[in-house]
Amino acid sequence: MIKIVLVNLYFVVRLFGNSFYSENNFNLPHCGFDLLIHQKMKNDNNYKLKMKNIVSQSKKSINPLSDDDVYKIPVVFHVLYNNDEQNIPDYIFDEQIQQLNLDYRRQNTNAIDTREVFFDIAGDAKIEFYLAEIDSEGDSTNGITRTFTQNLGFEFIEYDDLILGEITLNNVKKSNEGGIDPWDTERFLNIWVCNIEGGDFGQIMGFTYPPIEINTALNFTSSDAQPIWSNFSFQVEDSSLQGIVINYTAIGPLNPQAEADGLNHNDLGRTLVHEVGHYLGLRHIWGDAILNNGCEMDDGINDTPFQANFSFYNCDFSMNSCVDEGGLILPDMVENYMDYSSEHCMNMFTVNQIEVMRAVLQYARPHLFTIDINCEMGDLNFDGDININDIIEIINFVLGNNFYFCGDLNNDSVLNIIDAVLLVELITGT
Ligand SMILES: [Zn+2]
Repeated sequence: MIKIVLVNLYFVVRLFGNSFYSENNFNLPHCGFDLLIHQKMKNDNNYKLKMKNIVSQSKKSINPLSDDDVYKIPVVFHVLYNNDEQNIPDYIFDEQIQQLNLDYRRQNTNAIDTREVFFDIAGDAKIEFYLAEIDSEGDSTNGITRTFTQNLGFEFIEYDDLILGEITLNNVKKSNEGGIDPWDTERFLNIWVCNIEGGDFGQIMGFTYPPIEINTALNFTSSDAQPIWSNFSFQVEDSSLQGIVINYTAIGPLNPQAEADGLNHNDLGRTLVHEVGHYLGLRHIWGDAILNNGCEMDDGINDTPFQANFSFYNCDFSMNSCVDEGGLILPDMVENYMDYSSEHCMNMFTVNQIEVMRAVLQYARPHLFTIDINCEMGDLNFDGDININDIIEIINFVLGNNFYFCGDLNNDSVLNIIDAVLLVELITGT
């Protein structure tokens, strides 16, 4: 693949070599790349329109990144239903996205409930979510797929799984098992919404794998923000399993099926806020301690207090299960999204948790998000003009000059010859 790109670039260099330093009045030869574009348009009537849409979205790049950048993540919900109740209506997904954004931007109405002792370490993650508008194939979408399944439900774990090291619930991610295959898991946050059946190991509401490259990402975090994932027994390398599975009763606020699970602590859409936390590298705030060793198990996050156990789905602000580092006495942080407290009192991520999530996005899920910056699509060198120098920048990039630009004209998260071709088209107006 790399070889093909380099060979094609060689032709670009040859074709434009004489014009490299001439910004004005250059005439591009009618070249083989026009054929490529024309071929695409011939095979796809909407290609021109798609390109227009993409270019008009514009003002988009993936770097340079700073702490102030807001990372924006496209989401696709895959609804698997066996009956009408499981076929959750569209507006619930809008509500869910809105709740994710409120909580990850710390604009949630109950942010004011964060106790004073934690107020200074509660942060705005500057991460936002939106329903995907263009699917894996470049076609427009509302970010929701709906698939009837013969499966009455999807069981989480069976006894056999413990022997085989598998998770039966992953069937929901496979079209040949009654589920549906994901969209490109590197470019979309895939969320499967289905009836998760209570099985041999009880009922769960959501399930997520940590990023495959989690440890790479953690190399870029401070020592205050390093959850330990190496002891997580269900880690997988299979990218087709990346994403989140959530029970249909736990999706979104205002879900008409919220009571079907008989629970009232999980009706605000924060099951998904919690699962996205795992998806972005966070562990449970109590360190997944079991039985009586709770205070010795930590989540690897320094600004969350030690906590012996989860919060039993309630809002008990009197809890103080451990003495903290240096003999500090801090209450259990029941307001943290990564606890098992009631969603009604969850209201914060900490600064160090946010550091982990942003590092994961940057280094372990780098194709997943975009940021808005003030540059025009095609203006790769940020000089306010789109011309031959921008083509030089694309070539520099592909040849190893490690810059990021507003050059991803076909929105596939890779800068390559196709972008160069589209850039030529943009400059020449063809
Ligand atoms: Zn969890």
